Amino acid sequence: MVAALKAHTPAPPPRQIGPIVHASDTIGDWLTFYWQKLNLPAQELGKLAITQDRQEYMRWTGKRLNSMVLGCYCYLPAPHHAQPGVQTRTRKLFHSQVLPVFEETLQLHVPSHRHLIFIEPDMQLQSIEVTVAHELIHLADRVNGTPRRHRHHGYDSIAADEAAITGYELEELRRLLHEESSRREAIRRKRRPIRYLYVCPNCGNQYPRTRRYSRAVSCSKCDKTYNPRYQLLLRA
Ligand SMILES: [Zn+2]
Ligand SMILES: [Zn+2]
Repeated sequence: MVAALKAHTPAPPPRQIGPIVHASDTIGDWLTFYWQKLNLPAQELGKLAITQDRQEYMRWTGKRLNSMVLGCYCYLPAPHHAQPGVQTRTRKLFHSQVLPVFEETLQLHVPSHRHLIFIEPDMQLQSIEVTVAHELIHLADRVNGTPRRHRHHGYDSIAADEAAITGYELEELRRLLHEESSRREAIRRKRRPIRYLYVCPNCGNQYPRTRRYSRAVSCSKCDKTYNPRYQLLLRA
């Protein structure tokens, strides 16, 4: 069951000369380290914003962040101007009069693409390190114009690159990923315990839920599309 989500307008933080780092020193240090190691261009640094706060990240990207996510990279394309012309010209004129010279050359007021990164802070030190490296690999892919999607977390070409850049064995990276995921799962279960059990009247398949379904749903094993014959029944 996938519910339709409301689309929110992304609200990234205003650009500044350097990167925006709303995170611990540890995360900031690994960011600097792997930025250099991946040979990322300096001019992209002013387009980067990183946070360890889930709420803040959701405001920046305008998208929901699943509570199981340990790290996330989001590329925000430059916004399109709805009304170019007089308004834009006026604004530019205004800026050129008041902005200091160094800021003018960096063109901080010109709309640009943004790199937005989330890092879960409540992890082992090694996990924080490899997650920063992982998200920067996504950023490097985007800068190089070759974004990749995950085929299988911990087993795909992104994982191979992560091992190569961090010096960790693939097995070790998978172990860390597994441990952190189990930890988040336990935290989530504690916060949202399973209260409802739905059962298919046809095959008996069980659907444990933390919340009630807001509308009638049917068994996906018995029919791929909604079918009232296999409507799930609430047992507990
Ligand atoms: Zn990834
Ligand atoms: Zn069924």
